[in-house]
Amino acid sequence: MLYLSEINNEYITVGEITFNENMESVFSDEEIQWDQIVSIQFSASKEDLLIKLQSKEEIIIPDDTSGLVTLLFYAPASLINDQLLDDLKKIKEDLQDCPVCGNQSIWNNQCHVCHVEKEEFFHDEQTQMDAKIKELQLSLFATFDKDESIDWEFVNEPKFKRIDNWKILVSEAEVLDYSKNNTWNQKF
Ligand SMILES: [Zn+2]
Repeated sequence: MLYLSEINNEYITVGEITFNENMESVFSDEEIQWDQIVSIQFSASKEDLLIKLQSKEEIIIPDDTSGLVTLLFYAPASLINDQLLDDLKKIKEDLQDCPVCGNQSIWNNQCHVCHVEKEEFFHDEQTQMDAKIKELQLSLFATFDKDESIDWEFVNEPKFKRIDNWKILVSEAEVLDYSKNNTWNQKF
């Protein structure tokens, strides 16, 4: 399975998860500089984004890959042709608020910043929805070491609009407690 991790003005990181003989997940990341890319376009069906590299290699990113919109927002103007500009306009119109990370970054039912799926938090009833958002924020802001302080700002993704009335529903004590029980000393 393909995934996108770090995306910035210099490069994108395309990774792949495979399984070894012990059925353990193996992650392999490849950094691709923007200047190695010669073209970006959607397939005719719009189900995949096709990225062509100078090396003639082609990367196919399915449209349900979280981070795909972020990739398009960071793409240098030289790679945005008229068709892609049109596609981007439609994507921007479709973007919905993500109450987990506070960006207007949900497209195709998933958040392209914090990588949650809409179905993970969506609920008709606000109290129930808040409880789910809270759970997701605990893992979003979790720290990985007892000496690490919580980074409340890392979700402020500059390429996306921020939601004006976004609220962090978790306290520092709750995040630290969650981290202590779930992510500290976790081995990768
Ligand atoms: Zn989000």
